[in-house]
Amino acid sequence: MSAPPNHCPALVLNADFRPLSYFPLSLWSWQEAIKAVFLDRVNIVSEYDRVVRSPTRVMRLPSVIALKDYVQSARRPAFTRFNVFLRDRFTCQYCGHPFPTQELTFDHVVPRSRGGRTTWENVVTACSSCNLVKGNRLPHLCGMQPLTRAYQPTTFQLQENGRSFPPNFLHQSWRDFLYWDTELDPF
Ligand SMILES: [Zn+2]
Repeated sequence: MSAPPNHCPALVLNADFRPLSYFPLSLWSWQEAIKAVFLDRVNIVSEYDRVVRSPTRVMRLPSVIALKDYVQSARRPAFTRFNVFLRDRFTCQYCGHPFPTQELTFDHVVPRSRGGRTTWENVVTACSSCNLVKGNRLPHLCGMQPLTRAYQPTTFQLQENGRSFPPNFLHQSWRDFLYWDTELDPF
């Protein structure tokens, strides 16, 4: 028995055949993928064995699709919690340990109570314990300096960091378009 269509997402590539996004990996549900095919917005690059049937036709589900029109990525990525974590590679900038997202928080290097602003240049990823220890103190007064100076990343830098975080599921047909190919089990 083959997998239900819900388990058949399509990897979405830009017109240059690179993934639209690495982390999270750009995936569309099979419904979205088929809709884009019918709207003539994508080319099918690879297919699953799995088919869907309508009253009039049978169609194999796309496993890799490429946009026909190139999508320019924003030059300056959005300033979000997630992107701060991604910039810092999900690593606490004080103890240097990586954590799952839900155990991370962000820290104002110069605390807000001391005039520190909520900007790329003053916010770093921290684990809860380090965040608690540092509290409202200034870095040079408590001896807790971030491992990497906080900076405004480019979209390219975030994409590069995202490449280090392979998803749990990788279909065989996606491997040619990604960089995590050799080490991973296909399922
Ligand atoms: Zn820490």
